[in-house]
Amino acid sequence: MDRNEQLFSRAQQTIPGGVNSPVRAFRSVGGTPRFIARAQGPHFWDADGRRYIDYIGSWGPMIVGHAHPEVVRAVQEAAARGLSYGAPTEAEVEMAEELVRLVPSMQQVRLVSSGTEAAMSAIRLARGAAGGGKGRRKLVKFEGCYHGHADSLLVKAGSGLLTFGNPSSAGVPAEITQHTLVLDYNDSQQLEDAFRQHGDDIACVMVEPVAGNMNLVRGTPEFLQTMRRLCTQHGALLAFDEVMTGFRVALGGAQSVYGITPDITVLGKVIGGGMPVAAFGGSREVMKHLAPLGAVYQAGTLSGNPVAVACGLATLRLIQAPGFYERLGESTQALVDGLAGAARDAGVAFCADRVGGMFGIYFAGSVPASYAQIMATDKDRFNRFFHAMLDRGVYLAPSAYEAGFVSAAHDGAAIGETVAAARQAFDLVG
Ligand SMILES: *Cc1c(COP(=O)(O)O)cnc(C)c1O
Repeated sequence: MDRNEQLFSRAQQTIPGGVNSPVRAFRSVGGTPRFIARAQGPHFWDADGRRYIDYIGSWGPMIVGHAHPEVVRAVQEAAARGLSYGAPTEAEVEMAEELVRLVPSMQQVRLVSSGTEAAMSAIRLARGAAGGGKGRRKLVKFEGCYHGHADSLLVKAGSGLLTFGNPSSAGVPAEITQHTLVLDYNDSQQLEDAFRQHGDDIACVMVEPVAGNMNLVRGTPEFLQTMRRLCTQHGALLAFDEVMTGFRVALGGAQSVYGITPDITVLGKVIGGGMPVAAFGGSREVMKHLAPLGAVYQAGTLSGNPVAVACGLATLRLIQAPGFYERLGESTQALVDGLAGAARDAGVAFCADRVGGMFGIYFAGSVPASYAQIMATDKDRFNRFFHAMLDRGVYLAPSAYEAGFVSAAHDGAAIGETVAAARQAFDLVG
């Protein structure tokens, strides 16, 4: 047994499945998860000392690369001043000011510690604020979008298109998901029908404007514009879950790419720079419903934690360097072009897409536009490709249904090595 195998077997004694978040367990691709010992720039090293080019970046946050010296310094300095106070700090104010400046649809923002917490709180806020606070209950979400693991969000579509959802996890009572309507992503007609039928009871439509939790699927401008129009017409609040896309697809998030203003924005991942910071925000009119100003309760012992906020602020400063997103986009484009070219040369049905610094790879003839099309891609071939790449020192997300992430530290050498590895890997799986 190598060191990763030893650690995995030891982990399984005291941690369910050996991991603290399920996708890390390699269940989808098979094999032994790598236990990471350290990371630097575009690389990390496992417990056996093997180096990998990392395309997960902690599932998005590590946009400036691992262990960036300025970020590490900010964290060390903050830690030396004390780890947590449970009282407000100037750094939180700076963070809030920075976020509302960069994402102008928000006038106010509340910091929390995880994307799950932010999305869950955003929905409570929407229910408390929508339709003049007249007790709207319904939530609309889309199949394949992930908004964290709160009860009301662990839902799969009901038997009929416009029937309310069923729990997708054990431990969630059907009474809780009965208010969640699950529609097909990129299907504007279903949205129209849902509002025709339930418009006066819908508090919130929550969407990933670019879906990044079913591999990568772009929302079409028409779909998102229809959503905006229907929410406005019916007094429902539009919540963009930009936990993944925020500061990832562009400095202003997906909302700046599409030119659509949501009522509530949910952020996480990049804004913590690798530490637990997430946020939700909106106009003053919406945010005034939140405690202590209003009747919608929300709280957190470690919310706005000074060390985590220092990490996030240092990261937010780095990504505002001139040309940061142009370069990130060019590297990501070079990666997807290189992979697609290698697949073409090997005669493998494959394509790739990217928005800003996130990308999707698909063993399919064309880029998928829905959850069903993602499910129809060749998962077995992806799994073989994943392991062939891992053997060659390239760490992709261990599932055909996850997006990938490039950082500013992924230079020409890292991308070149990745494409060279892919040439061999495509030959193997072809
Ligand atoms: C990661 C993610 C979440 C959940 O965030 P956690 O910090 O893992 O709780 C919610 N929404 C989206 C779009 C995400 O990508």
